[in-house]
Order: sequence, then C-alpha cells, then structure tokens
Amino acid sequence: MAGEFAVIGGGIGGASAAYRLARGGHRVTLIDRSDIGQATAAGAGIISPGSSNHDGAFFPIAQLAGLHYPALVAHLTEDDAGDTGYEVAGQLVIARDESEAADLPRRLAAILARQDGGMPNVGEAHIVDPDEAVRRFPPLARPAGAIWVRDAARVDGRSLRDALRRGIVHRGGRVLTGHAIPIREGERVVAVLVNGERISVDGLVLAPGAWANELTVALGFDVPVAPQRGQIFHLRVPGAATARWPIVVGGFDHYILTFGPDRVVVGATRETGSGFDPRLTAGGVSHALSNALAIAPGLGTATFHEPRVGLRPATPDRLPILGRAPGLSNVTLAMGFGPSGLLLGPWSGALAADLVTGQPGPDTLDLAPYLLDRFA
Ligand SMILES: Cc1cc2nc3c(=O)[nH]c(=O)nc-3n(C[C@H](O)[C@H](O)[C@H](O)COP(=O)(O)OP(=O)(O)OC[C@H]3O[C@@H](n4cnc5c(N)ncnc54)[C@H](O)[C@@H]3O)c2cc1C
Repeated sequence: MAGEFAVIGGGIGGASAAYRLARGGHRVTLIDRSDIGQATAAGAGIISPGSSNHDGAFFPIAQLAGLHYPALVAHLTEDDAGDTGYEVAGQLVIARDESEAADLPRRLAAILARQDGGMPNVGEAHIVDPDEAVRRFPPLARPAGAIWVRDAARVDGRSLRDALRRGIVHRGGRVLTGHAIPIREGERVVAVLVNGERISVDGLVLAPGAWANELTVALGFDVPVAPQRGQIFHLRVPGAATARWPIVVGGFDHYILTFGPDRVVVGATRETGSGFDPRLTAGGVSHALSNALAIAPGLGTATFHEPRVGLRPATPDRLPILGRAPGLSNVTLAMGFGPSGLLLGPWSGALAADLVTGQPGPDTLDLAPYLLDRFA
C-alpha cells in the first residue's frame, strides 16, 4: 500500500532513496538544505570496485552497488531524467617505475580474482605496454607499464543527483530546498517540518551526509560520521571526451577522469580532520595539480575550468551506516559513505527506501557489517 515518506538530504544517498520510493508508487518528499560542501556536488567517481584495493566487508556491498548501476540508469532513461553522468570508459592502472611495474601481475591477479568472485565492471583486464597506455591517454608521461580494465565506469555526482531529482518529480514526488526538522513521538517520527510546512510521514530516510550528527543527536543518538574535505579540479581539453580517454589510476592516491564535452577532472585530496570548511586551500590546489601533472604532463596546456570542494561523510572503518535508526521503528539510515558514496550511494539509498516501506531490500545482503551498532 502506498504511504507518505520523507527523505532528509538530497545528495546521492537521499536522492536514490527518494527515487526508489517514488518508483514504488509512494508519495515522497526529498528535502535538501543545499549546504556548500555537499559531497555529491563535488564528487566525480570511478565505478570500478574490482580495481580498488578494498576487500573484506567492502566487497559484497561494492559488488551489489556496481551491479545496481546499469538498472538504475535504465530506469532513469525510462523516466526521461536526462544525462546521468554514468559511462563505461575503461581504465588504465599505471605503474610509474620498475618497482610498480613488477607489482602489476599481482594487481592484475587481484582484479581477476575479484571478477571471478562476481565483481562487475571488469570485463576484460590485461597488462598493456607503455606505448599502448600512452596511445589510450596521450597526455601521460610514458609509464613503466599499465593494466587495462575494459569495463570500468565513471560517474559525475552532480549529473546523477540531478537526474535522480528529475526522476522523482517525473514519478510524482516533490523536491524541496530547506532545513528539515523531524518530529519524534515515542518510537516514531510522525512529521517533518520544512519552510513552515508540516509533512506528516509514515516513514523517514536520513541521508544527511557529513552533517549527520546535527540531525541524529536531535533524535536521541549519535553516529561516528565526520567531514573529510576533498578538492578536485575540472580542466578543459578540447576533444578529450570524443577521443574517449579512459580513467587513469595507479600507485598514487589520485585519479584522472574525462567527461564530455571537454572536461578532464583531476584529484582529489582526502583531508581527514578538515572540519566543515568547504574552501579551497593553497596546499590542496598544489597537491592535486602537481600529482596530476606528474602522471600526465600533457595536461599542462589544459585550461582551468573550475574547482569543486566537497565534504565526504567519513566513518572510522570506511564502511557506510545502513539499516534502522536506534529506538525508532520507522526511520532508516543511508549515511557515512566516505570516499565511496558515488559507488555505494545508489544501492544503499534503494535499500534504505525498501527497509522503511517494509520491503526485503533490492538484494540479499547480511547487513551486520554496516549497521550502526557495530560501533557500540
Ligand atoms: C572530491 C570528491 C571526490 C569523490 N570521489 C569519489 C569516487 O571516486 N568514488 C566514490 O564512490 N565516491 C567519491 N566521493 C564520495 C561521494 O561523493 C560521497 O560519499 C557521497 O556523495 C555522499 O553522498 P551523501 O548523499 O551521503 O552526502 P551529500 O552529498 O553530502 O549530501 C548530504 C545532503 O544532506 C543535506 N542535509 C543535511 N542535513 C540536512 C537537514 N537537516 N535538512 C535538509 N538537508 C540536510 C546537505 O545539505 C547535503 O546536501 C568523492 C567525494 C568528493 C568530495
């Protein structure tokens, strides 16, 4: 039976939850305060969990989240939601010197083992010689070697967020800008106040990003979520997208992504302990650009388009916080996505939506590693 739901937080987690609710035929209101520093607005992400170095409890949720993407994009297309910013682009894992090149067979074996375990977005992966790497991404300094991962994808957070919002409206939902205040009565949230309006709700999803504690403390619990600033830079290189330049990663902690029509995105810093300060810093600019130019000196002639700064909602163990809110029977959590929210957010938002409506969830997954009480 259709119910009345609200979602607080309109980044990728909340927008995905609200879209799932709207597609499920529920009345839904997505409320977002549009804080400067929203992580989704800044994030440009690699959807290639097979080539990341995380395993353990990251593996099963990353697997389901990666598999979720093509279906989500198909749903958004069906709902005339426009550009999602998601595309299979291929990926080069670069070795900068002989010692990194010597490690490539081990990295390739790990990628293939993850694919054998069911991880999507690999397709075909093999070692390529330096000439092929430069042919695929011409601005590169000649590397010592590289791995090619054919089915790695990338997404622009802002584009996907906006497509989800259009999808929500297309399905009859509402998207409001404002500061949302949940009203608790006993073990339930009964309403949400926003811009002077009181919205009665059957259930609520909390997806407030780095600002999580401000909301949860008012509801009687806290969460170990803290802002981690990321600075990322959009450069302009005419023709980069039509040449289909792939994603570039390697033994360095930054990456390079290409978006149409002419964007090459480099970054990003990971500044733990940054607090809620969404400003650019001299150190951040220098770190991100010098890293990118060391890997790809050919980008030195690119022109500067724009910087983006976001506050990732980081948890101590780099896993998200999902499941029911403690002491509240009709509230679910989709938060703490840290550096992996563009990958994990869409599936996790769908899960939070299904849990709040009493559905079993988009897929079967043991949620124990992602529940808030793991920190108890
Ligand atoms: C530079 C950068 C690069 C990144 N790269 C990657 C990557 O390569 N791969 C990857 O997977 N992820 C990446 N991420 C991480 C990813 O972007 C985040 O994990 C994800 O966007 C978090 O989404 P969210 O919806 O939880 O939070 P947010 O996007 O921050 O959204 C939370 C929203 O909640 C709103 N809000 C809070 N409280 C209230 C309230 N009371 N009322 C109304 N609204 C409220 C805020 O205003 C905000 O708009 C990157 C992030 C950054 C910053």
